[in-house]
Amino acid sequence: MELLLHACCGPCSMYPQKVLQSDNISYDMLWFNPNIHPEYEWNRRLVNLRLAADHYGVKLHEEGVCMEDYWKSKTYLEEFSSRCLMCYDMRMDMTAKYAKENGYSAFSTTLLVSPYQQHEAIIESCRKKAEKYGIEFYYYDFREGFREGQNMARDIGLYRQKYCGCIFSLDESDFKEKILKSMT
Ligand code: SF4
Repeated sequence: MELLLHACCGPCSMYPQKVLQSDNISYDMLWFNPNIHPEYEWNRRLVNLRLAADHYGVKLHEEGVCMEDYWKSKTYLEEFSSRCLMCYDMRMDMTAKYAKENGYSAFSTTLLVSPYQQHEAIIESCRKKAEKYGIEFYYYDFREGFREGQNMARDIGLYRQKYCGCIFSLDESDFKEKILKSMT
């Protein structure tokens, strides 16, 4: 199997990469997270993902930009019942499409490591995209290693964020002031 692993950030990639490496699965990673705002944070997470990719000696494809205006417009709510469903759909659509067009036989995502994400909704989105593009979705419940992955990230000095990624999740974070201060 030639797998394309969508990665939302460096810390969340650590445990899934460990699993793939120990199972001898050949994979590259894809950065596609236009949901992350502001741009400072988008860049910070990308830089950290590059470190995580380098740590394992894995190729990282980088796609997309920071789409803050689109998110603020909330036009996506005409199609999706929540921002998170749109967020999963947008990222999994790109991942499955990119995997298919670039010769991979399967795709997956590091979103499956987080106990804070809507695990079943992510699976559903991935299954839909697998069918749409005619490519396998590789499922693994990486949540078993969430803490281990976070500890691995800390051990190699990765930045570990305190909010999910979008401007709304930043607004809702108990650490908002601290986070904004870290961006100045
Ligand atoms: S909370 Fe997280 S998953 Fe939901 S829309 Fe924001 S960035 Fe996406």
